[in-house]
Amino acid sequence: MPRSSSVPPEAGATSRLRIGVLASQGDFAAHAEMLASLGAEAVEVRNPAEVEGLDGLVIPGGESTTITKAIERDGLEPAIRAHAAAGRPVLGTCAGMIVCDRGHLGLVDATAERNAFGRQIASFEVELQVEGLGPDPLRAVFIRAPRIVSHGDDVEVLASVDGHPVAVRQGQIVLCAFHPELTDDSRMHALLMALATAARERREDRAASGGHQADA
Ligand code: GLN
Repeated sequence: MPRSSSVPPEAGATSRLRIGVLASQGDFAAHAEMLASLGAEAVEVRNPAEVEGLDGLVIPGGESTTITKAIERDGLEPAIRAHAAAGRPVLGTCAGMIVCDRGHLGLVDATAERNAFGRQIASFEVELQVEGLGPDPLRAVFIRAPRIVSHGDDVEVLASVDGHPVAVRQGQIVLCAFHPELTDDSRMHALLMALATAARERREDRAASGGHQADA
């Protein structure tokens, strides 16, 4: 897509991506650290104003009921919806997967079942092949993890355990049932940042063409 001379081609590359991590509850700090290690400006998000202008957002693991209540209490739902509706990416991990499902924010046309792997195997680690992350498996840490029990046709399954989807993507929203912040494999966060870069480039292209470009 040609750009007008008012938008330097390197504009997207020169300013750091600003990625928010919902910090109501859960293990947000480890996410922020990983994003910063990849070169993002990682910001903790606790109120609607802090969602504005983010290039991407992480909804971390923790306790989905507590996070859902905090989103309600802090009036974050409209801001998160506006972020997603503007084509800005979201990564929901573990409890964050639940928070984004049909029964909650509904950002993805899928239903997650809580604590889906049962009490006996509450926590486990597997080498997981994840679509789009290259040939090397990712060491995935599951802690009282959910899994996807049903989903619409627009939802792409990126990884499964025993035939049950544990990583899915619908457009700019990526959900995983495991904790990508707990190992030193940063590829899920890198995926979010790649989506955020692409989304920023689309916005810049739209701005350069006077906002008349149809696709989001
Ligand atoms: N079991 C938790 C819940 O249902 C999620 C666990 C996690 O995020 N590690 O909210």
